[in-house]
Amino acid sequence: MRFAVYARVSTEDQVRGYSLSEQKESCKQKAFELGASEEDITVYADEGVSGSLMERPGLTALREAVKRGEVDCIIVRDPDRLSRKLSHQLVLTEEFEKAGVKLEFLNFDWKDTPEGRLFYSVRGAIAEYEKEKIRERTSLGKIQKAREGGVPVGFNTYGYDYNPETGKITINEREAEVVREIFRLFIEEDRGANGIARYLNDKDIPTKTRKAKWHRQVIIQILSNTTYMGVWYYRKRKCEGNKFETRDKKDWIPINVPAIIDKQTFIRAQEKLAEARRLWASKGTKNYLLSGIISCGDCGNTMTGVYANWWGRKERRYTCAKPTQGAKNVGCRPRKMILASLIEDAVWEQVKQWVFDPEGVAEEASRCRPDAENLKKELKKVDKLLNEAMKGRDNILSTLASGLVDLDEKTEAMLSELKRRIARLEARKGELIDEINGEENLKYRAEEIKKITADFLDRLDDLSFEEKKELVRLLVKQVVIHGRQTHGNKWGNIEITVVAKLGGGE
Ligand SMILES: [Zn+2]
Repeated sequence: MRFAVYARVSTEDQVRGYSLSEQKESCKQKAFELGASEEDITVYADEGVSGSLMERPGLTALREAVKRGEVDCIIVRDPDRLSRKLSHQLVLTEEFEKAGVKLEFLNFDWKDTPEGRLFYSVRGAIAEYEKEKIRERTSLGKIQKAREGGVPVGFNTYGYDYNPETGKITINEREAEVVREIFRLFIEEDRGANGIARYLNDKDIPTKTRKAKWHRQVIIQILSNTTYMGVWYYRKRKCEGNKFETRDKKDWIPINVPAIIDKQTFIRAQEKLAEARRLWASKGTKNYLLSGIISCGDCGNTMTGVYANWWGRKERRYTCAKPTQGAKNVGCRPRKMILASLIEDAVWEQVKQWVFDPEGVAEEASRCRPDAENLKKELKKVDKLLNEAMKGRDNILSTLASGLVDLDEKTEAMLSELKRRIARLEARKGELIDEINGEENLKYRAEEIKKITADFLDRLDDLSFEEKKELVRLLVKQVVIHGRQTHGNKWGNIEITVVAKLGGGE
């Protein structure tokens, strides 16, 4: 390593008794510590020259040596020796660093001076800015690469191999065969996504991650993935905070990849998927009063309506069993089937009671909630504290900005404490507002329900299924079923819990 020592004293420094040789010696000492020997060190010095000028013989000689590549490391007492001006300090340090030269300051009192700290904080901010610039450039580079037909990052589709170094995508024949089989089973053999998943699991065909099992959702994704007919879209999603969002389609970048299936097959699959969805939707609306709000208290699954043969009778029932391949929770075993009319009648009786007495329900519900007046009082207090904390923070920030006070440890600790307090108070404020609104919603909802139910009151027992369903959804948050029916006793040990929507906690 070749070392350069730079030293400078101004006329005033000399008057005050600071010597150039002392500065040179301590810098050389540092060079020795870093492994230099006497002949590795070149000394550049300016004596009696103002530090506010860039044109100094010693400094100019040093800069030229750096330009010629003759220096690996520069040792200076402190940033102030390079220049009295921050802008010059920044220009010089950047110039040295760009030339690949390391810059070392002696580690004494410059860290305790306001100038030294300013230098380092501005250097830090600039480094941050540079990093941001580089990030922007690389992301632009990726888009460019995508436009040119290469593939940047993030390609991980079943059926293909991706080489991150060349950006090339090739067909993985073994996986591609499975993709073709999935499309064939779906189109030619009329198998559903569930059936296909079961088929692949039975044959022990590995998924992309190898560990996971095939799931109907994965099959549907494969059947609707345009990549397989040769077009992959880059930048389909963006990352907002920590969640993904889909971009506008115009911002997607199409990239051609080798096709695994032909366009006709793909289109046929999309038609069949749409048919299946329609069929599914119509099944979903078959007359189950509680679909979507009923769950099993024993296994935690939602319960769905099935029209099934059970104990020799084909009737509407609710079950928590999930026949879906890959379902996380398969539900109670043995399968739990409960006569739909049994539960629906009980829930309907409860709903009727509520319709006759909406205020009673609202009152009962509000009894378990904190008093609105107290909530409002606390909100006022929190608001006041919040204002004080923010004022305190702003005062410190503006004093700092005016340069009257340095950012010492005490001020820094005070600032971060204020920041924490503000965050705490803001969170509490949000909670309080939610609670107060909830309270007001409750009153409002009692009125609303009275209005809506007024139409139904005198014909509650003659409502159409749709009207009944509407009313149930209006009043019931959830129905939870514990226990099961038994042979010989249709009630078995069933317990039905109907959770009112007015009961708060929404
Ligand atoms: Zn269950």
